[in-house]
Amino acid sequence: MNVLIINQSEVRALLPMDACIALMAGALAVLARGEALNPLRRGLLLPDKRGILGLMPGYVVPMRMMGAKVISVFPDQREAEYDSHQGAVLLFETEQGRLLSIIDASEVTAIRTAAVSAVATQRLARKDASDLAILGSGVQAHRHLEAMFLVRSIERVRIWSRTPEHAQAFAARAARRYNCPIHAVPTAEDAVRGADLICTTTSAREPVLMGDWLTPGAHINAVGSSVPYARELDTKAIAQSRLFVDRRESALREAGDFLIPRQEGVIDETHIQGELGEVLIGRIPGRRSPEETTIFKSLGLAIEDVAAGYYIYHQAIERGAGTWVELGGQRHLD
Ligand code: NDP
Repeated sequence: MNVLIINQSEVRALLPMDACIALMAGALAVLARGEALNPLRRGLLLPDKRGILGLMPGYVVPMRMMGAKVISVFPDQREAEYDSHQGAVLLFETEQGRLLSIIDASEVTAIRTAAVSAVATQRLARKDASDLAILGSGVQAHRHLEAMFLVRSIERVRIWSRTPEHAQAFAARAARRYNCPIHAVPTAEDAVRGADLICTTTSAREPVLMGDWLTPGAHINAVGSSVPYARELDTKAIAQSRLFVDRRESALREAGDFLIPRQEGVIDETHIQGELGEVLIGRIPGRRSPEETTIFKSLGLAIEDVAAGYYIYHQAIERGAGTWVELGGQRHLD
């Protein structure tokens, strides 16, 4: 069995953000049509709670590909050499079950998550949204900035991060790349007030975004929290907005941003308007008026990783990228 290993820099070259946005829209539509399997992910939390090992299997029927992302999440290692998300996407074909490819998961996760937020922004943000706030300044913040520029005409960006120097460094680096005013601001409130497009990309466990700060008509991509006990948005922000999710079943198990207000009795399950894929296939409406506030709660789905892996694998073969390794998988009876 020949397996193609595709490393981090190759993923970056093979999966441009604009291509990934289109790919993610397709994958989420497939999920909404019932043509994909995405069991709930499993996580192994280390006893000292410093990190999680996540296992995320998925199957995308039209691609005839199944796979699993195996990923460690070790937050708060900003000064370290390594990404907070490390691992591999294992891509399998579904005729004989052969492992086709092992792909760096740090880069896949970084790109596909921002691409999904871009799809949500296309469907849920106002067409004229141009004032962007980003909370957080890590890997996801960088990728979200890139993705938001692709789907809206951004005229101003404000960045807040827990560590002010990180926000300043982010803004300085971004200002060199984008022809747009990009400012680091001292508080999350300074970033969010008046913004019509907001991406929350922090590892915070307690809310960093308050409903009181939101301007009517804003759209929020809530990306950072993906466990039931952590949230980035306060109860008021969730309660006053139309809430869309990547997957209902996952949100009901994993989304602290939704589950904590529900525990408080402020909202119930009906507060979830539906899945982004359902908006994409026209089953449910997206934004209905310029005044309503919308939230896309992203948790991250295995089918996004499988779809990205499928695309990267084929691009790599076409361009002669990656490294082939003879791994095994042969049937031996003696
Ligand atoms: P990074 O480690 O690169 O960045 C983490 C960011 O979170 C930094 O800006 C840091 O601020 C901020 N932060 C950490 N702790 C706190 C806190 N207590 N309060 C406020 N801000 C805090 O991580 P990533 O960018 O890769 O990931 C960000 C989040 O997104 C993570 O929680 C991750 O699990 C989640 N994620 C979600 C995905 C999805 O599909 N929805 C996919 C991938 C990631 P500073 O450095 O200024 O201190």
